Formats: sequence, C-alpha cells, structure tokens
Amino acid sequence: MSDRRNTKDTNLCHGTKGDPGFSTRSVHSGERERQTSDSITTPIHQTSTYWFKDSEEVRAYQEGRKERDEYGRYGNPTLRAVEHKLSELEGADDTVLFASGMCAATTVFLALLPKNGHLVVTSDCYRRTRQFAREYLTKLGVETTVIEPSNNAKLAEALRDDTTLFFTELPTNPYLRVMDIPETVRICHARGVKVVVDSTFASPINYQPLSDGADLVIHSATKYLGGHNDLLAGSASGKADVMAEVRKAVGILGGVLAPHSAYLLLRGLKTLSLRIARQNETGLRVAKMLEAHPKVRRVYYPLLDSHPDAAVAKRLLRGGGGVVTFDLDTDFDGAVRFVDACKIPYIGPSLGGVESLIEMPALMSYWDITSAQRAEFGISDSLVRLACGIEDTDDLLADLQNALTQI
Ligand SMILES: *Cc1c(COP(=O)(O)O)cnc(C)c1O
Repeated sequence: MSDRRNTKDTNLCHGTKGDPGFSTRSVHSGERERQTSDSITTPIHQTSTYWFKDSEEVRAYQEGRKERDEYGRYGNPTLRAVEHKLSELEGADDTVLFASGMCAATTVFLALLPKNGHLVVTSDCYRRTRQFAREYLTKLGVETTVIEPSNNAKLAEALRDDTTLFFTELPTNPYLRVMDIPETVRICHARGVKVVVDSTFASPINYQPLSDGADLVIHSATKYLGGHNDLLAGSASGKADVMAEVRKAVGILGGVLAPHSAYLLLRGLKTLSLRIARQNETGLRVAKMLEAHPKVRRVYYPLLDSHPDAAVAKRLLRGGGGVVTFDLDTDFDGAVRFVDACKIPYIGPSLGGVESLIEMPALMSYWDITSAQRAEFGISDSLVRLACGIEDTDDLLADLQNALTQI
C-alpha cells in the first residue's frame, strides 16, 4: 500500500513491531511534521492540544527554556496572529481574545475586581453588562454605582476609596455619548482607579483609548472588527501587567475564541480601515440628511453640532462611525412602517458589519420592559437605530428617504 512509506516517514509507532493499523494511521499519518510554509495567510490551527517530542521538551517548556503551546485554552498560533494584529491596532502590549464581547467584559471584571470591591459604570452601557453587575458581581460582594453617561463631574463624585474600576462604552449605545477620556483618566488615576473602555462603537480606527491613558480597551469583535456579521468574538487589550491578569483569568474561566472564528476575525481585520472609512462617510451623510428631514424629530450622531458631546467627539474621534440613532416624528406604528419600508438594511440587532442593519430599540433590546420603563432609559417608542454597512452611500440615502415617505 502506497501510504506505508508515509508511515515510515512520519516515524509513527517507533519501537513497536509491524505497521500501525488503519485507525492509527488515519489519525496520525502526515500530521506530525512541524511544517512551516510560505502561505500568505495564517493557517487555522484547528487543534485542542499540542504534542511534545519527548519528556525533555516537556521539562524545557515547564522550566521556561522553551516557548511553545501546550493546550488550546492557553494559546493557539491562529489566535496569536489576531492578538498581535489587535495589539498593533490599539497600541497595546498584549491582547486576549474571547468567545464573545460579553465574555471579554465578564472575564475582565472577574479578573480585576477584588471581593467586596466597587465598580462605577455609565447608565447607557450594554444592558447585559449592567445585568452582569447586578445579578452576578453582587454575589462577590461587588457594589456597582451607575452614573450618567459622559459626565466626569458625576464620575468624580461616585469614586470611593474602595473603587477599583471605572467602565464606560465609547461611543455609548444608543445615544452615542462620548466621554472626555483624557479627563476621565486624570480623575480616576488620581484615585488609583483603573479605566476600562468598551470601544466597540469606535473601533481602533476612530479612537484608541489606550493612547489617552485608559488601562484597558475591550471590544465586541462581533461588530466592526469581524465586520461581516459572521462570527462572535471579544477582545481585551492593554498594558502587560493588566493583561497578564486577564490572560490568567481566561485560562481558568475558559471563554476562549475558537480557531476558526479567529481565522474569520483575522480575515475581517484586514479590511477594517477601508470598511470604517466608508461607514464614517455614510454615517455622517445619513445623520445630516435625517437632521434636515421634517419627519425626523431628533438625530443622535457624535459629529453633529446638535449632539451633546460634539466638541469632545470632534477632539477625540477620527470619525463618527456607522451607527446613527434617530427619533421619528411619529408613534410606534409609524416607526414600524418606516423600518418595514427600508429595503437595504436588514431588520436585526448588532452593528459594524458590511450589511446595514436597522432596529427599533423598543421592539428589540428593550422589548421585555414596559413603555414607561423604557422611557426611564430614555428609549422612546419611535426611536430607530441604523447601523450602516458598506453599501453605496447614495443607495442607502435614497432608500431611507423613500421609507420616510411611508410614515
Ligand atoms: C454587542 C456588544 C457587546 C456584546 O458583545 P457580544 O459579542 O455580542 O457578546 C458589548 N458591548 C457593546 C458595546 C456591544 O455593542
């Protein structure tokens, strides 16, 4: 049989008598060379574990004389390629990847908050993050203070001697508030508090929180970083000492990213800057068109002069991003007619991908509470969030203008 030669080449079952069976060969033959190749793309290292040549190699690894991988929860070459790329993009010493954006947030909190510690977050941060603080961090005795978004004065008041972390999104969802991070960092660092920024809505193309002194930046890589609505992933990037804690935590908590998703993320990241350039352009033009439209009550976009944080946004951000939130001059049913009349955007949650997505927060992420409770979060029944993709800007503008006639 022709593959007997291969059996000898790969030195399978050395020291045993005769040829290995079909099962042994089908599992092992051909896999044992440590190939390096000249492929342009990074291979998907679809493996759960790694093998050692002999016990001496195990010893060398354990004693730190040899750098290599041991087990998939602690490292993978495909993930490492993504981590290096993201570290370069964020200006970080190190990056850790997670199975989702939520996993990045929960692992970072568990890694950095002490028992009975104190956390400060802003009121319009991702709902599941607030839920995690309320339902799970309380079990560890961690108290959470929720402050108004983008308000450094309120932040200064909320800090206590036992405060460990301040967490904000930038820009926030859905009103795209932009906190003055250099000032935030000055206030927090004076009190020994670390600043964690969920920069999902900005992406490193529009803002790098670490360059303004933040200690950690996290992403739902599901959004702009992946960029194709085809994967779930999360990341955390920062200085070496903080990241060492986070890396240790993911090794224990176990929410690592799968190698195949890491490959999709790696591929998506290659076009990040091109995609964001289009999304910035479309977002701004859509925001301006909507603001001038008689059927639109109010538009929220960080680079519009009417936005409460316009001055800070113009100073910090290189672009306003692809998300535009707006309140239509109608009721719930009118907003439904508008959304249903849009032909290009899919109706769905999420953002940052090549396909435009549109949603009514009252019907999507805030569905399970009453209209009055939604009003407390400032979510009106006629509010719409559009996440622009990379379609031609003029096509999207025409589609929205046509749908506005249907209200
Ligand atoms: C989507 C999102 C998350 C959660 O990320 P997943 O990848 O869905 O787990 C967290 N923060 C922000 C700002 C998000 O948009």
